[in-house]
Amino acid sequence: MNLKNYKMKRDFQQTQEPPGTEKTTSGAMHFCIQKHAARSLHYDFRLEYKGVLLSWAVPKGLSLNPQDKRLAIKVEDHPLEYQYFEGVIPKGNYGAGTVEIWDHGSFTMPHASDRKGIERDLSEGLKQGHLAVVLQGDKLHGEFIFQKLKKEPEDHNWLIIKKTDNYATKSDENDLPSTKPKNLKKKSLNSSPPC
Ligand code: MN
Repeated sequence: MNLKNYKMKRDFQQTQEPPGTEKTTSGAMHFCIQKHAARSLHYDFRLEYKGVLLSWAVPKGLSLNPQDKRLAIKVEDHPLEYQYFEGVIPKGNYGAGTVEIWDHGSFTMPHASDRKGIERDLSEGLKQGHLAVVLQGDKLHGEFIFQKLKKEPEDHNWLIIKKTDNYATKSDENDLPSTKPKNLKKKSLNSSPPC
């Protein structure tokens, strides 16, 4: 885990995104989902792991319907502070466009609820290309499966699928609200328009 790729892609004189350092933290493990109106709109799913945020770009966002398999492209690890980032990445920069926090909360895994156990299971899951996380977000709750499509390490395509539980829906439509999470303080967005 390191932030080399994250830092290489960005000019911190230009973007307000956090430069970030790898940190050790304690307590609950966090996840966030950011709605990112870049050249094409997508949702960035980030999971805390060993001092950074594992990150996937999900073009269609998440669905509560276990029938929906949502493509999720694994991207570079992001710094932990990124889970609170909202703002406009200026034109000409990597990922130019508006970033908004869409969901935020904590997560556990089906067989682990403490940090040590979660990191152990996450590490194993990353090796296997199969993760199950249980989200306690403002919008998203319950278990989601992350399944890597191919074994090759250089392939970055995964699927995110809702597991059938009390929080799953049968609806064909993704009826998740587009509003911001209630329990997160609304930060003022930069006034420049999205690129
Ligand atoms: Mn993005």
